Amino acid sequence: MTSRAVEAYQHDMGLDVDGIVGSMTWNSLFSTSHPGNSGGSGGGSAPAGKLKKIIIDAGHGGHDPGAVGHGLREKDLVLQISKRQQELLFEEGYIVGVTRAEDNFISLSDRTRAANNWGAELYISNHINAGGGRGAEVFHSIYGGPSKTLAEEIMKNLSNIFVSRGTKSRQGENGDYYHVIREANMPSVLIEHGFIDNSIDANILKDQDKIEEMARATVDAIKAIFPPENEEVKIKPSSFISRAFNVVDELSESNPILPGIESPFEVGGVKFKYQAHLEKEGSVNWNLKSFQGFTPEDLFDSFAAKGLDKMMEFYTSAADKDEVAAMSDTFLKLTDNIEEIRVSVLEISPKLSGFVIKPFEMEFLTDTGHGEWKIREIITLEHEMHITKETLDALENAAFTFVAVIVIAALCYAVLVFGAALLGALGFAAAFIIGYTLGREVISPVTS
Ligand SMILES: [Zn+2]
Repeated sequence: MTSRAVEAYQHDMGLDVDGIVGSMTWNSLFSTSHPGNSGGSGGGSAPAGKLKKIIIDAGHGGHDPGAVGHGLREKDLVLQISKRQQELLFEEGYIVGVTRAEDNFISLSDRTRAANNWGAELYISNHINAGGGRGAEVFHSIYGGPSKTLAEEIMKNLSNIFVSRGTKSRQGENGDYYHVIREANMPSVLIEHGFIDNSIDANILKDQDKIEEMARATVDAIKAIFPPENEEVKIKPSSFISRAFNVVDELSESNPILPGIESPFEVGGVKFKYQAHLEKEGSVNWNLKSFQGFTPEDLFDSFAAKGLDKMMEFYTSAADKDEVAAMSDTFLKLTDNIEEIRVSVLEISPKLSGFVIKPFEMEFLTDTGHGEWKIREIITLEHEMHITKETLDALENAAFTFVAVIVIAALCYAVLVFGAALLGALGFAAAFIIGYTLGREVISPVTS
């Protein structure tokens, strides 16, 4: 190998480009073959099967800039493309890992080892070419299979942005030439997004809209060839809030609720916003772990423990025990799969003729029953809510249930968080709402 050939090889493999066959280059050249892309007939663009775990590999990084030209560095551009791919794939419901998330150097063997150990089902390596040429090309395994099918779909999409150099495979001494295609135990492609040292391609690479298109070219191809396996994990809003407001019924027919829904609505002239999203466990910064398991017993006990006698008195002495029991039961069923609740700063001001709830946001983390996926539901009260007997009288049954439930939940939360300072107001508010909910007399407003 001439040093120029070594340099070209090192560049292509994402190694340090020094033209010297050091231990890393040597290992890369002669590492054991793992043809992870064998099988399948290749060609065509029919779906090759569902999957969920994808690893995105931004080539180069750290002291290795990759190709450079026209004031651009490959390592920066491929990181941008990779991050955007990661976001888009995540929104589509895939679980996405990255070989690097910042400008640091990771060896090729560390990249494929991480992918293999993690159990990735697809390996996408993003690069940009140099060396005199123009256009995009996508490398797939010499064994064809799903790697080739995907490469063809990506190339098709990229040809809307770049001149197409087509799909290619390259034979090495031990199978595939490219490390990330040879050593990854899963279908793998290596994408060259144009030539950084070509002025036409460089102008494309400088355009943020084109970068977005590049990311989408690969993501769209993945969706077409490998639909997300968790597609059946539809969001089924099932918290007491969504059920009370019948969100499922309202949206399930008109709106396939994946990966998220947003639904503004109005109750008694008060504007709310309901949102539901599918979230990977750990992706949400939930910080109140202690509020798991929000049962009616907890709710009523917490009020009782704080001495909210009026509410408890009503609860225990209501004439219609069945009705109270039914409500307890409803709460129990509605709250059984909520794991965590978080409320932004909540403020309730008692008034003589009712009370005012200031805008707040309430989030629920709900188990989907699909492993690491959770439903995150957010109810936002967008304007002050004036709760008076007249307001309540004006509400329809379903809407009323919604108001009652959200207020009770908010109150319960507020008691837990803010404690004694709010007790006077809360005692009044809770009694007021509970009393009304149960269809009994409205407990007269009291001033504390
Ligand atoms: Zn590269």
